[in-house]
Amino acid sequence: MKQKQELYRLAAKELADRRRHAEEEYARRVEQISRQMPEYALCRHTLIGTRDRLSQIILQSGEKREKAIAALRAENTAAQEKINRLLTDHGYPADYLETPYTCPICRDTGMLANGRVCACLKKLQSDLMLSELAKAHVLQGCGFGDFSLSYYPTQTDRETGVVPADHMGQILDFCRHYADGFSPRSDSLLFLGKTGLGKTHLSLAIAQEAAKNGYLVQYGTAQEHLRQLEREHFSREQSTDTLDGLLDCDLLIIDDLGSEFPSSFTTAMIYQLIDTRLAHGKPTIISTNLSWQELEERYAQRVVSRLSSSYINLRFVGQDIRQQKRFDG
Ligand SMILES: [Zn+2]
Repeated sequence: MKQKQELYRLAAKELADRRRHAEEEYARRVEQISRQMPEYALCRHTLIGTRDRLSQIILQSGEKREKAIAALRAENTAAQEKINRLLTDHGYPADYLETPYTCPICRDTGMLANGRVCACLKKLQSDLMLSELAKAHVLQGCGFGDFSLSYYPTQTDRETGVVPADHMGQILDFCRHYADGFSPRSDSLLFLGKTGLGKTHLSLAIAQEAAKNGYLVQYGTAQEHLRQLEREHFSREQSTDTLDGLLDCDLLIIDDLGSEFPSSFTTAMIYQLIDTRLAHGKPTIISTNLSWQELEERYAQRVVSRLSSSYINLRFVGQDIRQQKRFDG
């Protein structure tokens, strides 16, 4: 997935393309209308002339100044009205000769007069983030609205003592709130539970919401992240882009912790990701099928203690859909 600067660069380029396109289109329309309606050229000449004279008069002082300004404004308005009439008489919309910016509010600059970022730029950035996420992962059917509680038993589970449908309903609500209020200072989450209980679904749902709000999300299984890190670490290029990207993004999601090939490198990397992001107060969502005992056997005690004490632990319960089918059969 592309880094934040790269996404900002792409958004800025898109805005520049929109501006250029709008200005070229404006020039084309002026030429077209000038050819079709010779009177237009005269009106345009008047408009440009009044604007030039107005800027000179404004700098002067004296009694006549106000009168001169009013006269020029009237001349300008008359010329503008005449142009509008000419356009509509020939079947064009009255605003045909305004520069057709995609966003008239910021004139495709992405910035407002008060120095704030325009909504169109925020939308552009979030679209780019989402499309980056969608390139690597199937997002269809993985929104909050697609999460069905009907797969979860409504009877008390003997092992955990909870009603899975109710418990998962609470987890779903929690994740929705988490996604709605997501910020780069949000808590880190640990999704625990067996396969087929919706951990990937809910982490993808959160990833999509965060990306929609313009946050940079790095999503992947532990195996995918670590393969990339290994490739980077053992290549001759001495780049740290992948590692920096995982450490710096607004939300890091490590799905299926334990799916990676166990080695001293992968274990050290997992610790570095968890520890560095916690130290900088950046949120991470980790899901795993491993039990606490399995986590302890596989990772250093310091990894397990960070996960149990600094992450909000959510236990997914219920039965794997495949398993349910086997019982039904
Ligand atoms: Zn705008």
